[in-house]
Amino acid sequence: KSGFVAIVGRPNVGKSTLMNQIIGQKIAIMSDKPQTTRNKIHGVYTSEDKQIVFLDTPGIHKRQSKLGDFMNSTALNTLGEVEAVLFLVDAAEGLGGGDRFIAERLKDVKTPVILVLNKIDRIEPEQLLPMIDEYRKLHEFAEIVPISAKLGNNVNTLLDQISKYL
Ligand code: GDP
Ligand code: MG
Repeated sequence: KSGFVAIVGRPNVGKSTLMNQIIGQKIAIMSDKPQTTRNKIHGVYTSEDKQIVFLDTPGIHKRQSKLGDFMNSTALNTLGEVEAVLFLVDAAEGLGGGDRFIAERLKDVKTPVILVLNKIDRIEPEQLLPMIDEYRKLHEFAEIVPISAKLGNNVNTLLDQISKYL
């Protein structure tokens, strides 16, 4: 199985940490060059049964300019063309305006969206379900996966969930 996955999430939710955790295990490509094409390839994960190309979608941010608008529209096109979208959020911070803004952009996207609740190492277990209920109001998520990108907790489960959509 192989396919493309776009990662969205406001700054500091742990997108780079997650990529390091995933790609660090199985190194293929890591790209940190400035964006020359529409999408920056974050990395390619390859294992015996799957290959996943992770795309950064830097355009999903609050509107600041015409250029920002253009980036938003190309980012949205990308989200329509990938197999799955990972929507990364910070469980330690909880649901905020930055998350709502992105969820709003996802409304028109038909691609399955996997909600990834990151930094669960910083919350109490009983906080998880109420938080999931809050996020569920934002979007009809295909999957919801709590992880700690930093510690690596549940990251393999996330890869398994992604592969359902490849
Ligand atoms: P990005 O802006 O979305 O790429 O976020 P980064 O990957 O740069 O992470 C932002 C900060 O959150 C860094 O200080 C990370 O070490 C921290 N961080 C990321 N994932 C986790 C996690 O699972 N648990 C904890 N405690 N911190 C994390
Ligand atoms: Mg980053």
